[in-house]
Amino acid sequence: MSEAMKLTGKSIYVAGHAGMVGSAIVRRLSSEECQILKTTRAELDLRDQGNVNAWMAKHRPDVVVVAAAKVGGILANNTQPAEFLYDNLMIETNLVRAAHEVGVEKLLFLGSSCIYPKLAAQPMAEDALLTGALEPTNEWYAIAKIAGIKLCQAYRRQYGCEFISAMPTNMYGQNDNFDLATSHVLPALLVKVHQAKMTHKSTIEVWGSGAPLREFMHADDCADALVFLIENYSGESHINVGTGEEVSIRELAETICDVVGFDGDLTFDRTKPDGTPRKLMDSGRLRSMGWSPRIKLREGIEATYRWYLDNQRIIRS
Ligand code: GDP
Repeated sequence: MSEAMKLTGKSIYVAGHAGMVGSAIVRRLSSEECQILKTTRAELDLRDQGNVNAWMAKHRPDVVVVAAAKVGGILANNTQPAEFLYDNLMIETNLVRAAHEVGVEKLLFLGSSCIYPKLAAQPMAEDALLTGALEPTNEWYAIAKIAGIKLCQAYRRQYGCEFISAMPTNMYGQNDNFDLATSHVLPALLVKVHQAKMTHKSTIEVWGSGAPLREFMHADDCADALVFLIENYSGESHINVGTGEEVSIRELAETICDVVGFDGDLTFDRTKPDGTPRKLMDSGRLRSMGWSPRIKLREGIEATYRWYLDNQRIIRS
């Protein structure tokens, strides 16, 4: 940890500000007196190096958050390996290099818990990185994110840049992707259970065996942790951002049924992949810096379901 950085008066570019994490960071930053730079995909294609260089040279942010990424659930990752690897590599390399070129004061790069080996000891501490083979269903995304961490470290070592990385666990919340073909499990089950309730079905289908264990964090909690890291952390190691609590996919499905008010049965489609058996992060370093999560899983699911009901017309599903 170095001296705290104050965000007051800074201009901040949150790449990916329309997405779930990016929009949560922007909401969180609204309570700081800083200027948030926004752009549209039409104005700035983050995969285009010339476009990124020109935009950064024109706007010269003080702080950059790399929350933009091509993301998706287990099926999307497994079926679009080219885009998951190429788009993510391009987005991060363009942003990190341009940030260095224009002298950005601090950059926060976001990854995810899938960077760790498939069979890493649990809970997974930061130093488990690159100690074993990756989970094959999301290795494309993971390889890109590992390259992003290394790129921040390389610019820090070679040029002394204040570039840091955070690895959030599985996130959920408003502005999530609710499209069943590409979403992660929590929004997918919310949609499936809601639709089953509305159409008076007696069962809902859960992919895989229901046995895998996952850790879930509300995007607002995550955003709070990320702003905390921008203000308080400086170091080469990436930092895990999680709740420390895990549930099985079956337990998650049961909680969602309860929140939505659906009393049908669960069926398990074992032709779909389980993915990694367990993915719990050790977030001890973040805790020891003085940050802890506030939103309990059930409470977060309730809030997300309310948001989904209020915004069904404008979201993809
Ligand atoms: P992962 O954490 O990278 O494996 O990604 P997901 O969030 O997509 O999947 C987590 C676990 O939930 C896997 O074991 C999936 O098979 C399981 N799962 C159960 N039902 C669904 C569903 O409807 N959609 C998705 N994406 N996963 C599901």
